[in-house]
Amino acid sequence: MQLRRDPITQSWVIQQTAEHSWAESGICPLCPGHESLCPPNLYVYPLSAANWQVRVIPHRNPIYQIEGDSARQAEGLYDKMRNLGAHEVVIEHPDHNKQLSDLSDDQVIQALRAYVARITDLKKDTRFRYVTLFRNVGAEAGQELEHPHSEITATPFIPRRSAYELRSALTHYENKERCLFCDIIKQELDQQARTVEWNELFMSFCPFASRVPYETWVMPIYHHASFEEDVTSPEKELQLARLLKSTLRRLSMVTKASHLVLHTSPNVNSRPYRTGTWRTLSEDYHWHLEILPIIPGKSRSYSIKEVYFNSLPTPEMAAKELRDGGSAQK
Ligand SMILES: [Zn+2]
Ligand SMILES: [Zn+2]
Ligand SMILES: [Zn+2]
Repeated sequence: MQLRRDPITQSWVIQQTAEHSWAESGICPLCPGHESLCPPNLYVYPLSAANWQVRVIPHRNPIYQIEGDSARQAEGLYDKMRNLGAHEVVIEHPDHNKQLSDLSDDQVIQALRAYVARITDLKKDTRFRYVTLFRNVGAEAGQELEHPHSEITATPFIPRRSAYELRSALTHYENKERCLFCDIIKQELDQQARTVEWNELFMSFCPFASRVPYETWVMPIYHHASFEEDVTSPEKELQLARLLKSTLRRLSMVTKASHLVLHTSPNVNSRPYRTGTWRTLSEDYHWHLEILPIIPGKSRSYSIKEVYFNSLPTPEMAAKELRDGGSAQK
């Protein structure tokens, strides 16, 4: 596999060559008792217990390979590099049939801790410019293993959507000396047209220019650029776990299939970066989770679209429906 840069959009595209299949007939490799079908744990909770509650393993057929360097090369005007990176699987719970929203507060907190631990560890690797987490739920979302799980990837480039966001956030900060996302939060809480719910620390809302119906973001109400540096206190873990569960439950009334993506600060330790590249990052960027539901017949895969087509409902209608309909059943 190889990464190639689109010279027009400047984004890196992965050229996939191999089929990705992991599941063997009828056996779930992520279920307890089948650990031998998986690569060794990178993280497990509780430590050294056969009765694990959360574990993280390398992906068996990774999109990215951890060894070596990125071997950036030019081919005429084109840029290419090896698929250097890391690709891990977070198994949030041993139960094959439990989604995040079905777990207890403590179980979701343990999953959040696994995310924080792995992202923090991968960011120590100066070859990686960006580390993110995503969660595909449902076959329509490209979930390849039935057992609920998230994936973490570390890449030697910043994915396009995040690069756009970082640029916009910096521009807004340079013009106004304020965080773009904090401004959005303030306006959404004032207007109450697109908010879904909130607690003392976090909120969820349908963004003004939603790309797909029922698109929902989860953000801290206070300012912080980095998820893995921020979500480390018991109070933040608990409030985030509760809000995330409740928001996911509301969305599950609308569809079972969705993508969830973490947008956090890029790896400021990575080399080479020009001095001063991330000078104002901690003030100008604001981490968040983006949830993109898949409504059968309505939305197409968001990841490959340059221009997003969003059919009804509008974000205002979607937020109202999620507020009214899905008030957490348990
Ligand atoms: Zn399973
Ligand atoms: Zn902010
Ligand atoms: Zn984002």
